[in-house]
Amino acid sequence: MALVEMRGVSKVFPAASRNGTAVRAIDDVDLDVEAGDIYGIVGYSGAGKSTLIRLVNALESATSGSIRVDGTEITGLRERQLQRVRLGIGMIFQQFNLLRSRTVYGNVAYPLQVAGVGKAEAHERVAELLQFVGLAEKAHTYTDQLSGGQKQRVGIARALAISPKLLLADESTSALDPETTQEVLGLLRRVNAELGITIMVITHEMEVVKSIAHKVAVMEDGRIVERGPVFDVFSEP
Ligand code: ADP
Ligand code: ADP
Repeated sequence: MALVEMRGVSKVFPAASRNGTAVRAIDDVDLDVEAGDIYGIVGYSGAGKSTLIRLVNALESATSGSIRVDGTEITGLRERQLQRVRLGIGMIFQQFNLLRSRTVYGNVAYPLQVAGVGKAEAHERVAELLQFVGLAEKAHTYTDQLSGGQKQRVGIARALAISPKLLLADESTSALDPETTQEVLGLLRRVNAELGITIMVITHEMEVVKSIAHKVAVMEDGRIVERGPVFDVFSEP
């Protein structure tokens, strides 16, 4: 069974005003992301990439269709159950979304506090994560003192704190220069290869997907118009 399994999924945003039109942001999508994959979702702005990710993360609910994450059907779940599903999913963002009032340590510890993990256990976990992302020396630095690449490494450590099976990366290198992008992609490869975490990478940058993904789906107007191993999708016909 795939870790993420979407069947006939659509998401319609109702018209914002009486004479506006509804938007079919996701249109009858089937998708299987197997455990261990790095799966790229590419497409132009407005193609539906963010909506797709928000459906997997249960931040939006599908208008129709079925979404299974790690075997659990998430459409129609109550908020409490959804929270449990979200705890199994890590997420990193274009603008990092770090807490500026907290240090590097505080940012990585935050999800553990929310999950009720005890201080000693959390301390050990944070130390291990900062070691993994190469920021052990920066534990007590406030995040606005960090470079973009360092900030995203904090974002990755924070996302890993809850030991997710699935990591969602939403335009996670779009704010970074090419060199820093490669550094962050290298870290994501290690997250996949060394920790066995499945990753979905949403991006409008073809080069990012070519360099990191095993498989790719190309989205256009809410539909997947092409998909397969990266090598096949991006080779000239
Ligand atoms: P190359 O660098 O090999 O010329 P590109 O990276 O430009 O190829 O594009 C590879 C394939 O993906 C092409 O078939 C192209 O039409 C498609 N493509 C490129 N950019 C996008 C995008 N933003 N959204 C959807 N498809 C795209
Ligand atoms: P992408 O991430 O590929 O840029 P999005 O998923 O953000 O695409 O958007 C897909 C379509 O859905 C766009 O037409 C966008 O305007 C629309 N859309 C996204 N979120 C909302 C929302 N909350 N309300 C109404 N329309 C939305």
